[in-house]
Amino acid sequence: MKTNYINTTKKIEGIELAAKAIKNGKLVLFPTETVYGIGANAFDEKAVSKIFKAKGREGDNPLIVHICDLEMLKNLAEQIGEIEQKLINNFWPGPLTIIFNKKPVIPYNVTAGLETVGIRFPSNKIAQELIKLSKCPIAAPSANISGRPSGTKIEDIIDELGKKVEYILDDGMADIGVESTVVRVIDDKVHILRPGKITKEDIEKIGIKVIIEKQIMEKCKSEEKVMSPGMKYKHYAPRTKCLLIYSNNQQKLINEINKNIELEKSILVLGRTSNLEKYNTQNKLDMGETLEEISKNIFTLLRKVDSYKVKLVIIEGVKKEGLGLAIMNRLIRACGYNYIEL
Ligand code: AMP
Ligand code: MG
Repeated sequence: MKTNYINTTKKIEGIELAAKAIKNGKLVLFPTETVYGIGANAFDEKAVSKIFKAKGREGDNPLIVHICDLEMLKNLAEQIGEIEQKLINNFWPGPLTIIFNKKPVIPYNVTAGLETVGIRFPSNKIAQELIKLSKCPIAAPSANISGRPSGTKIEDIIDELGKKVEYILDDGMADIGVESTVVRVIDDKVHILRPGKITKEDIEKIGIKVIIEKQIMEKCKSEEKVMSPGMKYKHYAPRTKCLLIYSNNQQKLINEINKNIELEKSILVLGRTSNLEKYNTQNKLDMGETLEEISKNIFTLLRKVDSYKVKLVIIEGVKKEGLGLAIMNRLIRACGYNYIEL
């Protein structure tokens, strides 16, 4: 299949063609403010099944449905409670996915057989325009082969997914870099099923009680029932062995990383800008300084590490607070739970 590439900063009218492809049951790679998505018409069961095939995604891992206005939501969600409405008023459009009871129009392959559906109204203008012109909600997981780091720029994913889609909408590097926060309201409390840019603190600020699911940082047993099916899968992992190290004492952290460099010479370090010069190795990658920078860079860096052909990658951890919780959730999985906290 020939894929059509559209640089949206140069050629905005191409979105119409991509929307037509969505209507015709085809797949499109498109930008959102979190990561790139691989999307299909959410009402078209056959089109949705192509997403699972393209990604090699397990059928029990549900997709998020993307909308561009609240009218669309009414057609998809069975009821919108008071707390959900408050979340919508405060955080949509934006990087927050809310779980609702689904209406029958949504095929079961979108929700992996569940009676609930995750819905998000992205703030990225290209995403909004694509959904609007397609005249249907778009089911889309992150654009990556399952298990690999999510795609935050087209150059990173074109080899693995480029030939499997009809159109590619390039909007440069994604702003946020980690996927949306996924929440579900139970008994008037918000449960965070996957941490993201919208944090526990952000939600508490609008007067809602928040519970962080403990499974966010733990390895799930395969038979365990999880609230968010994606949590049980290996994710974001480079092929090279990775070790995540964190201490809130900077000197301890740097000493521990240097100790590991002594033991294993074939090594690559991913560290904060201000710490990089303190590591006794030539092989280093700059994660950025702020949590926002680290969040934006992390997936593209995880995709780079294999090209170094080293035996071990050491990644500096961050404090599990605010956006740091989302970063650590992704990094712990990227390292296959190979994690030291000092
Ligand atoms: P991805 O689109 O690859 O970022 O993955 C979407 C994730 O959202 C899934 O892996 C699930 O963990 C979560 N999710 C989507 N729909 C639901 C749902 N109905 N209930 C619980 N979690 C969901
Ligand atoms: Mg994903």
